[in-house]
Amino acid sequence: MRFLHSHKTLDPEHQETLSRSFFQGRAGKEVQHCIQCGTCSGSCPLAHEMDLGPRRILALLRDGFLAEVLGSRSIWMCVSCNACLTRCPQGVPVSDIMYALRVMSLEHNLARREFKMPDVYRGFVRQVEKRGRVSESRLAAGYGLLHPSDMPGRLSLALRLLRRRRI
Ligand code: SF4
Ligand code: SF4
Repeated sequence: MRFLHSHKTLDPEHQETLSRSFFQGRAGKEVQHCIQCGTCSGSCPLAHEMDLGPRRILALLRDGFLAEVLGSRSIWMCVSCNACLTRCPQGVPVSDIMYALRVMSLEHNLARREFKMPDVYRGFVRQVEKRGRVSESRLAAGYGLLHPSDMPGRLSLALRLLRRRRI
């Protein structure tokens, strides 16, 4: 199947392997409990930033469109606030599902190149593996090296955060 949202393609055998691995895991099994009521999409504070709302993510997964979901922006926008889980009548842990999808996307290098969040995740993991903890300034510096054009806009935010001792 072709990634409708991605520059990448996935051969059927690779897709079958990913699909089996996802649905054998805990997050994949939870997908089957969804009744498509849409409460999660109505509750999600980040839904307006997503190309596929949480309900649609669940529907596509159930219908076998894992590749489509792995190429979506939505999985990188979830902030694990659990507003969806709190209201879901079926108790579906959408944030865990999003997390599992992000891990799969990173492990198989399937995120679209224009997405910046995967770089933040990679930087975070590198620091934890190397130092056992995360330094926000190192994380920001690493991001800045990869996306220098973003930095002028973020500098004023960084200064405001510094002034309020939030960094
Ligand atoms: S709120 Fe729960 S059951 Fe309803 S669509 Fe979302 S995940 Fe599915
Ligand atoms: S946990 Fe993720 S999907 Fe659920 S409401 Fe929060 S941001 Fe949206």
